[in-house]
Amino acid sequence: MAEANFIPLSVPNFAGREREYVDAAVVSEWVSSGGAKVTEFENAIAGYCGMPRAVAACSGTAGLHLALLCAGVKPGDEVIVPALTFIAAVNPVRYAGAEPVFLGCDDSLCMDPQLLGQFLEGNTERRGGEVYNKNSGRRIAAVMVVHVFGNLADMPALCEIAAKYGLPLIEDATEALGSRFEAGPFAGKMAGTMGDAGVYSFNGNKIITTGAGGMLISNHGDWAQRAKHLSTQAKSDELYFLHDEVGYNYRLSNIPAALGLAQLAQLEGFIGRKKELYERYRDALDGKVGLRLLPFREGTRPNRWFFSLYLTGAYPLGRDALLEKLKEAKIQARPIWALIHEQKPYRQNEAHGLEKAEDYRARIVNLPCSTNLSERDQQRVMETILSQA
Ligand SMILES: *Cc1c(COP(=O)(O)O)cnc(C)c1O
Repeated sequence: MAEANFIPLSVPNFAGREREYVDAAVVSEWVSSGGAKVTEFENAIAGYCGMPRAVAACSGTAGLHLALLCAGVKPGDEVIVPALTFIAAVNPVRYAGAEPVFLGCDDSLCMDPQLLGQFLEGNTERRGGEVYNKNSGRRIAAVMVVHVFGNLADMPALCEIAAKYGLPLIEDATEALGSRFEAGPFAGKMAGTMGDAGVYSFNGNKIITTGAGGMLISNHGDWAQRAKHLSTQAKSDELYFLHDEVGYNYRLSNIPAALGLAQLAQLEGFIGRKKELYERYRDALDGKVGLRLLPFREGTRPNRWFFSLYLTGAYPLGRDALLEKLKEAKIQARPIWALIHEQKPYRQNEAHGLEKAEDYRARIVNLPCSTNLSERDQQRVMETILSQA
């Protein structure tokens, strides 16, 4: 049990049929990846986001690794990634034997298409229909875009640039299940469905959870097929155990899939609840005493997974001092991630256009955003922040 008065950052909400579904999975004795709930969950996610097919994985990270392999990323290649993200968007590039090239963000916190265009224009050359980094001599094999905190990246611009250079675009939609465009060329399109492949995560703090889990969707039928094959040890014959390449044990199993079905039934309700919480924070904090609550992109219906409080110079406390005050008040908040190109495994890698990422990195605090956060607790968070000024 959580400590009395403690307000967590983001916890699961199991108010639906979770127990019933999980119990049924246990009673059925189908607990591993062969169970029917895995297929049911895949079909439910595919249906929800309007895709022909989805492939379940044991985590979002595994799903991203599969997506890179489907995109043809090979040892010695490079993949363009954002610097401002959770590291799980980048590590799979190394699993595939490739190297990340880091780019900064725009005001959506997602990869800036202008930086992508500039990098490809100024730093690469084409050889035999492929794109090579003039600095490293390596082939650039893909672009990885992250929809940070459920905010959609500028997909019309990013897709256009990727297409111009013939680069596959992978959407890390792990934080953005349910976010969609409402206007523009992608009106009606969900996060994850616009690039060559998209990946969701159902980790414990995501908008819906299976404990741990992920899902890959793709507009290429053969990518989905290959992802499933690779995720099941690349087994090509059930009876004789024949394997035609090195595969992985990346399949989701039946109990988390059962949990996922119960969670998915509540997703639209969770998104509605996030909107209420976001608007209450915005009304109380945005524009007050040097505070901003960062907006989500115009012309979209975001899932508003995480809320970003931005501290301008006019707020009397810096980020770390505010985090300390919140901690004293038993309120769990956190800074946005440290930039990935500054982390030990990636300090040697190329990085460009980091000005905005560095500013957001230094000034953002993520506020409690659980869908079951009570009005009273949210009030306490807001009062604690305002009373420092
Ligand atoms: C959560 C997350 C992942 C990884 O998902 P897991 O299911 O935890 O492996 C990848 N990228 C980003 C941006 C994430 O937030």
